[in-house]
Amino acid sequence: MKTTLVGFPRIGKNRELKTLLDSYFKNRIDGTRLIQEAAALEEVQLQALSQQLDVIPCADFSLYDGMLDMLYLFGCIPPRFKDIPQYAGSLAHRDLETRLGLYFAMARGSEVQGKAIYPLEMKKWFTTNYHYLVPELSLELSWELETSFLEAHIERARRLHCPFKVHLIGPLTFLYLSKILEGPPDKYLDTLVIQYQRLFRFLQQKGVEWVQLEEPILVTDLCHEDVKRFQYLYKTILFTKGTLKVLLQTYFGDIRDVWSEVCQQPFDAVGLDFVAGTKNKELIQTEGFPKNTILVAGCIDGRNIWRANLEELIPFIQDLQSKMKNEIWLSSSCSLLHVPYTVEGERKLPPELKRRLAFAWEKVGELEHLKTAVREARGHLSVSEKAHSSSSLPPSTFVDFSLTPRPIPRHERYWLQQKRLSLPILPTTTIGSFPQDEDLRRLRKQYRQGKIDENTYEDRIRQRIRALVVLQEELGLDVLVHGEYERNDMVEYFAEYLEGFYTTEEGWVQSYGSRVTKPPIIYGDIHRTHPITVPWISYAQSLTQKPMKAILTGPITIINWSFVREDLALSTVAFQLAEALRAEISELQEKGIPIIQVDEAALREKLPLRRGEWEGYINLAVAAFRRATESVRPDVQLHTHMCYSEFGSLVYAIEAFDVDVITIEAARSHFGLLSSFREYGKDHPIGPGVYDIHSPLVPSVAELEKRIRRMLEYIPPDMLWINPDCGLKTRGMEETVAALNNMVQATQRVRQTL
Ligand code: GLN
Ligand code: ZN
Repeated sequence: MKTTLVGFPRIGKNRELKTLLDSYFKNRIDGTRLIQEAAALEEVQLQALSQQLDVIPCADFSLYDGMLDMLYLFGCIPPRFKDIPQYAGSLAHRDLETRLGLYFAMARGSEVQGKAIYPLEMKKWFTTNYHYLVPELSLELSWELETSFLEAHIERARRLHCPFKVHLIGPLTFLYLSKILEGPPDKYLDTLVIQYQRLFRFLQQKGVEWVQLEEPILVTDLCHEDVKRFQYLYKTILFTKGTLKVLLQTYFGDIRDVWSEVCQQPFDAVGLDFVAGTKNKELIQTEGFPKNTILVAGCIDGRNIWRANLEELIPFIQDLQSKMKNEIWLSSSCSLLHVPYTVEGERKLPPELKRRLAFAWEKVGELEHLKTAVREARGHLSVSEKAHSSSSLPPSTFVDFSLTPRPIPRHERYWLQQKRLSLPILPTTTIGSFPQDEDLRRLRKQYRQGKIDENTYEDRIRQRIRALVVLQEELGLDVLVHGEYERNDMVEYFAEYLEGFYTTEEGWVQSYGSRVTKPPIIYGDIHRTHPITVPWISYAQSLTQKPMKAILTGPITIINWSFVREDLALSTVAFQLAEALRAEISELQEKGIPIIQVDEAALREKLPLRRGEWEGYINLAVAAFRRATESVRPDVQLHTHMCYSEFGSLVYAIEAFDVDVITIEAARSHFGLLSSFREYGKDHPIGPGVYDIHSPLVPSVAELEKRIRRMLEYIPPDMLWINPDCGLKTRGMEETVAALNNMVQATQRVRQTL
């Protein structure tokens, strides 16, 4: 029995990689220095892992992103980057600065003679908050293996004299996550086969023993066509594996749709997720598992931060052992990239919580622990082992959430609200946050550190709010907001005010490249002991005759961007949150706030990978949202904001939230989204977002007018709201004022013609 990992965080214990990248991006260090220091960081990490694990990860330590690494390795560089003069031609033998320049140009974009070269798109990695870079495939691409970075990873791992496996993304996942610009996917199968065969040859020449091919796509619903592609790719690629040993690594679920095909291929090892893919064990029993294949058992949860329950895991592994006789390696359920580095960074942790937590580094320890316990084949645990394991968790069962409809139907509410708000046709608004500058961040930090007192802090925030109210009135916006200046983050802010949450000091998780987030931990019962947003928002309302919109973060978004306790059903946690929000909402409406927006920005993110599980998830999300908002009075207008551009067949679910107005992120998807909302928009007020807040470009009045008119082809004028497509927090003030000004002017022009 051996221990290994699907992957490890690369950001570094103290976010060293982030610091390095930021310095490189600001030209404070050059590429050589970046590579040297990143390599040193990787070495320290591998060295530590080699003390604990039997097989260590290699080439898992990406400078920016694993998908980008694959694309670079294959040299299938999209033409707009290849056309940049210094990157034209073959990559081989180019100097380091040039190679890195190209790598980061794809990640972050570039500029050539004043013309912007757009970076690759970023998308969320399955149901996580990690973003990968999306390769773009077209038939004209030239593919050319560029192994210099990979080779360096291999050399570093080899120096440790510890068995290692080279981590790569497998061909089917690579293909399915790519944006295919031309031709059907099948057109790329043979190209991929050739690339992976070449890669195998390279690995053999380097004397590599193990390669891990990651195929998380196998846990999604696969049709016959998909399974055939899987078979074709692997049959041909594995044909040339020679002495190389291949581990097919899956994660985020079970692989029921390709089970027998996986078993038929000559993999040397297959990695299964036993945490998210509970059905995998059943499949082993009912469908069988090839005799000589190693089972890499993903049993330490890579998606949450609780200590493993060894009392359950030991018999689980023993049971597998007795039933299948295969060699077993113990591993994480997926890469530990999705959890923070180490609990050691938390100096203020209550001891009873500390005992229950395992971040990435502690999870590595758990593997070793589990191995020892299983190998010694003890039926029960020693006292010290017991102290390490968490208590048994009740399963989260499906609950039937019956929903009572809001007392007055939407159409009637509309008139009550209209009477109160007297909004013009095509009302204009924003999504909530306004630009946050260095000054504001410093202010919050000084307050947190106790360097300024509460009064000073509150005064300064009120100053900001005052200025923003004036600005919005000058701009002529119809529904105002207070700007969210008091919030560092839309989830962490609420977590800090609610009981039951712990906000970590150093619990950083990579979101992409040099970006990190700090998800709070829900560890106890959630209670609201005092108002969260009420003072700010009622202050803002007191400054204006125009309606002020209160902005709250919804229950599912808080859950999806936190680490959630597992000793309660998810629905219970969601309802606790809903109750807290409900109390906040009651107080807001008592203070006379006429519009309340509950953001469910992250609803889409954890939509289950299998269609059959959508309903349970959506039902829970709707039930929690409705519980939070059920007491909203009919003359108070309820809004929600959902910020993603791929709703697809989810639109059906939106109705059930029973809101009065929804705003969504349509600007970037070039109105493709609107067609899916055509039906909904017929009699539901909707603000599809007239410009993209992710870009600093200021759209002109004419351009915005054109877009509004396009929207009116889909949505009747009395249902259409005009707003940017998401919060303005990350933008600059100057461009924001210009863009909003143009937005209001364009709206006025369109109104005149209606
Ligand atoms: N109200 C939030 C804001 O304006 C919404 C952010 C989001 O949708 N991600 O920043
Ligand atoms: Zn948004």
